[in-house]
Amino acid sequence: MRHIIRNIAIFDGTGSGLVAGAVVVENDRIAAVLHDAAAIAAIEADNVIDGQGGTLMPGMVDSHTHLTWGSSVEKIYHQFILPPEELKVAAWRNARVLLDHGFTSLYSAGALGDQIEPELARAIEAGETPGPRLVPSTLERSPEGEEGVETGDVFNGRGPDAMRAFVAYCAAEGVKSLKLVISGEDALKPGSSGDILYTDEEMLAAGEAAKEAGLWIATHAYSPRAIELALEAGARILYHCSFADDAAIDAMAAKKHEIFYAPGPGVSVAALEASPPPHINMTSMKASAAERLELEKALVPKLKARGVRILPGGDYGFPFNPHGRNARDLEHFVTYYGFTPAEALSAATMLGGQLMGQQVGRVKPGYLADLLLVDGDPTQDVRILQDANNIKMIMLGGRMHKSPAAQPVTA
Ligand SMILES: [Zn+2]
Repeated sequence: MRHIIRNIAIFDGTGSGLVAGAVVVENDRIAAVLHDAAAIAAIEADNVIDGQGGTLMPGMVDSHTHLTWGSSVEKIYHQFILPPEELKVAAWRNARVLLDHGFTSLYSAGALGDQIEPELARAIEAGETPGPRLVPSTLERSPEGEEGVETGDVFNGRGPDAMRAFVAYCAAEGVKSLKLVISGEDALKPGSSGDILYTDEEMLAAGEAAKEAGLWIATHAYSPRAIELALEAGARILYHCSFADDAAIDAMAAKKHEIFYAPGPGVSVAALEASPPPHINMTSMKASAAERLELEKALVPKLKARGVRILPGGDYGFPFNPHGRNARDLEHFVTYYGFTPAEALSAATMLGGQLMGQQVGRVKPGYLADLLLVDGDPTQDVRILQDANNIKMIMLGGRMHKSPAAQPVTA
């Protein structure tokens, strides 16, 4: 099957400006990117798509996804922990909702059930259910007896052997990235973000075992010490890092070719905007969000200047921050962190693709054809990506998830 998408302006993922041209897709990959009118006219294809002057760009990547956090723009749950059957339904729905909103890749930051994501990732890959590419995870791990994020997991004992057992369990489950909660969480327990939940020995054991098993590590880390532990363990991605000091910034910059960083502004902004019903107390969550946002406004530009790869996405799925609004993170990168729209788009596409470890996130021959056709120019205003109606086509691996509207019939 060969498609040609023409009459488009191409955003290739790198951050450079739009270039007029056409893109040829063969089977699951991008076969050619053409700019010459005669070359474009000479292409024969099974399916010719007139982009009507819209922007063709790579699908977006969410770097910190919790599909089992139930709420989406289609269905809000007013309880956080769902019964097992509903949990699975919600996760499968949320995968499709994210794809409907232009996200073609997700990197999981942990699940509330242990087999849901590996099963879902397999079903998506087999074409049994619509959804983005998924790096699946399982229960978030915090140690036994520690405050912070409650996992309820039986593998939360102490010591290096318990860490190795958790990694072995994740590998057996078919997980690709495991999640370690190194810091406490102020939003859940005020004052706990400075707490350190693991020892060096535990983190090193987890890091070694994960490397041997071919698994990646994602980390919930706030303080300089938590960041140090994450880096020691060889974490692939660090979340939040709000309290990083100059030494932590240096340490992250020294590993800029190995790590990714996702601050996750969306949940903070949404928490500040939320007006919960009287029986829900969001006081500590709002205070934590305001503090973090303020710290990250200073921190993120410093890390960006040092060349650390900074990615949008994170912690959608609360009733006040439902899945499907994830593209708001790109606007937050512009508003709070001083990114240009093109830099925010590049972070959501090219850099996200590097996190996925697959040939995604670029409009480039040989890359997987995960493509969006957007009505308008997101390099001028990233907010247009927040309305799924502006995304006229969603292609995942050369297969059409959303076809462009039929051409208008002229009399
Ligand atoms: Zn998270």
